[in-house]
Amino acid sequence: MQAPKRLQRMLLRLQKYEINITYVPGRDMVLADTLSRAYLQESNNKSQTELETECVNMVEYVPVSTESMEKIRTGKKTDHKLQILIETIKKGWPACKKEVPTEITQFQSMQDELSTQDGLVFKGERVVIPDALQAEITQRIHSTHIGTEGCLRRARDCIYWHGMNDHIKKYIAKCDICRKVDAKQQKETLRPHELTDRPWTKVGTDLFNFDGREYLITVDYYSNFWEIDYLPDTKSSTVIRKLKAHFARQGIPEIVFSDNGPQYSSTEFASFSQKWDFKHKTSSPGYPQSNGKAESAVKTAKRLMRKAKLAGQDPYLALLDHRNTPTQGLDTSPAQRLLSRRTRKLISMSDSLLQPKVTKNNQGLTKNRERQSKYYNRTAR
Ligand SMILES: [Zn+2]
Repeated sequence: MQAPKRLQRMLLRLQKYEINITYVPGRDMVLADTLSRAYLQESNNKSQTELETECVNMVEYVPVSTESMEKIRTGKKTDHKLQILIETIKKGWPACKKEVPTEITQFQSMQDELSTQDGLVFKGERVVIPDALQAEITQRIHSTHIGTEGCLRRARDCIYWHGMNDHIKKYIAKCDICRKVDAKQQKETLRPHELTDRPWTKVGTDLFNFDGREYLITVDYYSNFWEIDYLPDTKSSTVIRKLKAHFARQGIPEIVFSDNGPQYSSTEFASFSQKWDFKHKTSSPGYPQSNGKAESAVKTAKRLMRKAKLAGQDPYLALLDHRNTPTQGLDTSPAQRLLSRRTRKLISMSDSLLQPKVTKNNQGLTKNRERQSKYYNRTAR
């Protein structure tokens, strides 16, 4: 169960105790608790609990921008069902099931998780979206054509409505752009790679062609964060210059993987790896899949670029969304793993969610990789 924010802190504090709670009605409390009447005069007018409730102002935690919050709020005013829900939460739920207003029976089973603040209803930390706004929110969640699972993970982070998962799945299943681009997709076998325990220690790189232009991809094995560079030409020196820019930003990786393309097998590249002090490993005939990381990043990048082109959208916004979408089986996105923070995007987030936070999740990453390759290899052709 997801407790509302205002209760989470209390629950945390109570965790170390084993408590039995007994309700005693006021009329049976013959002895008044002296101390509760003779409390200390606090210099501050606000009591401790009041202060705590203030610190955990839920609205600040919601990953939805103030503007959309305002829309949700006005949407709520005209939403009869949610008006009844807000009133019921404020008054307290009727003890008898039959007395629950028919409009809100779907919320009855989760009444302990529901709370209301500033005219909004929350289920745990998620905002409950009024009917009239559900279509628009679905569209926004899928605006850059992130896949179904990614969209669901993003939605589950911050919003809720009855049947939300289904709505989103159906909407994406009907999306023309995704259908066109994803239909051609065929799964390929994933090979588990040696693991890294820090961001940007092992980087894969490859060239690819999209729409008659050449691009360079550079992918970090740890975070799965990748960069695309347009290549005006495919000379070794051009590739090296692009890589240098990334290494200057993120640091020099210990190992760089690539195939045996002329850009990488040149003496220039050999001297680059020597001067910049990294090991350069290439795919060998006996180990052709060793650059699989870069190759699978190329597939994702091309799919994203194709969708953006078909939709007439900015590919960089799609890239931004991709980098902020939590990875399957993990709580973090590529941006969080490489940069230790979420980055600001169009469905903007509250300040608190944009604060840097280091997450050590290699454990999860390892398990996820094992599971992923197991699952993929079972379904791959
Ligand atoms: Zn789509």
